[in-house]
Amino acid sequence: MQKVKNIGLVAHDARKRDILDWVRFNAERLARHNMVCTGTTGTLLMEMFAREFPKLSPRITLLKSGPLGGDQQMGARIVDGRLDVLIFLTDPMTTQPHDVDVKALVRLCTVYNTVIACNRASADFVISSPLFDHVYTPVLNDYTEYLQRKTEV
Ligand code: PGA
Repeated sequence: MQKVKNIGLVAHDARKRDILDWVRFNAERLARHNMVCTGTTGTLLMEMFAREFPKLSPRITLLKSGPLGGDQQMGARIVDGRLDVLIFLTDPMTTQPHDVDVKALVRLCTVYNTVIACNRASADFVISSPLFDHVYTPVLNDYTEYLQRKTEV
């Protein structure tokens, strides 16, 4: 991970206000990094930056809306090593139509040892870590044994 991080930002609908508050609070710090967002979350964040922080020039990449494949696009970035941190504010009280995508995204963070925060307290700890603005090399899980396993065909 380089000093400038690629940060994924996703929030379920009931958590959109939370992510807006969190990004607003950390706006100057986040604007020094690259942000990648699912469609609706990212659109709200771009509007907020334009309205409230006109002097900042945040780098925000918009993916598709989460339920329309945006979560999977985010997952592909994890697999390709193009995402360092995922802030994914999930709603624990509502069944999501794209629950399989949500689970897959969380699982990929575990597979690739990607930093993930699913609530605001964890997001606060992540962004206030001294590692956030420094180069950091995560230990990658070793899947050699899995890849070399014998499969019956
Ligand atoms: P959205 O997607 O930002 O397009 O609403 C969020 C999600 O993945 O649930």
